[in-house]
Amino acid sequence: MIQRSTRLDAVHYELCGPIYEQAKQLELQGHRITKLNIGNPTPFGFTASEEVIQSVVANLHPAQGYSDHKGILAAREAIRNYYIGKGIHGIHTDDISIGNGVSELILHAVQGLLNDGDEVLVPSPDYPLWTAAVRFSGGKAVHYLCDEASDWNPDLKDIRSKITSRTRAIVIINPNNPTGAVYTPELLQELVQLAAQHNLVVFSDEIYDKILYDDTKHYPTATFSDETLTVTFSGLSKNYLAAGFRAGWMVVSGNKAKAASYIDGLNTLASLRVCSNVPAQYAIKVALEGHQSINDLVLPTGRLRQQRDICYEKLTSIPGITCVKPKGAFYLFPKIDVRKYNIQDDQQFVLDFLREQHVLLVQGSGFNWQQPDHFRIVYLPELQELSQTMDKLSLFLSTYQQN
Ligand code: PLP
Repeated sequence: MIQRSTRLDAVHYELCGPIYEQAKQLELQGHRITKLNIGNPTPFGFTASEEVIQSVVANLHPAQGYSDHKGILAAREAIRNYYIGKGIHGIHTDDISIGNGVSELILHAVQGLLNDGDEVLVPSPDYPLWTAAVRFSGGKAVHYLCDEASDWNPDLKDIRSKITSRTRAIVIINPNNPTGAVYTPELLQELVQLAAQHNLVVFSDEIYDKILYDDTKHYPTATFSDETLTVTFSGLSKNYLAAGFRAGWMVVSGNKAKAASYIDGLNTLASLRVCSNVPAQYAIKVALEGHQSINDLVLPTGRLRQQRDICYEKLTSIPGITCVKPKGAFYLFPKIDVRKYNIQDDQQFVLDFLREQHVLLVQGSGFNWQQPDHFRIVYLPELQELSQTMDKLSLFLSTYQQN
């Protein structure tokens, strides 16, 4: 018997978990599955701007070799300029590392920090890679509540009550996946102050920072303190609709002198994997400095905004379903009345819906939400398909285990 590492025992990623495997089986049997499990815009007809694509094509020759382990300088300069423009102080190209998507950098940032038993405050619900990364690194993910009754904002009291002598960092996902919440400057200020008081590193996942609706503004967490060590994450996958390029970045800001050992550890991890995919690195400067095609999609007439609205309206007209309207990203995280539908196991609920209507969702517990009363929808399909999918959910629920 060949056993996996015990470090993987508590590591889960339900977006591609057992239900996803079931969906693949159904596909092999000839069924067409509407896959609303993962935020991958391209299969739904979204495309990166032509200049972004061409920047990769045009640079395939120079991109044949390894780059610096932190990434090509032109891309890091563009990232630095972008964040200086957004108000983050004192960042240099050396503080920026490019990775194979934000995913790889999340693993580095967490692995480079934690010793066995160290704790990290992670939101509940979360983007589950964060919890997985902490556990895989020997740490303990301590979930803090994001409160649905308060537009899914982090509950500061809950956070305070969960800080211990082992707490090393706090994760902030803003705009949030899965809830679509976008945080106010006041809230971010308080979170940063709390981190400063307890000497915590702030991991600020801002991969959706340009996907904002209804005139909502996004504030980078790192702009609220020049002292608190903050690692800001973003990339090409969402804002630039190029998830398959696998290009993300992280920026270290705040009191770097205090964190010299940690920063050195991050460099070691980056150099162990030599460098990230080089062709995609050439797209970063063009993406950040060129036409921001995402802006058209979030306007009132834009495709993403319209899809959000139709999905929200149809969903919330289903008896027993309520939802906070998202202000950013492209997900809805509705609540389902578990008494009305007699649901004890949200994974079973999602599986039943998949089998009956061939639509793949992800259960709330996959986002480290403790009750079986939520699920996540990716609202990337075109209006008509989205509308039909919501009709399927409505039909499914009209006969589902009604009490
Ligand atoms: N962080 C959040 C909040 C995400 O939603 C995702 C992808 O869905 C990622 C990170 C990973 O993105 P990447 O494609 O850059 O690895």
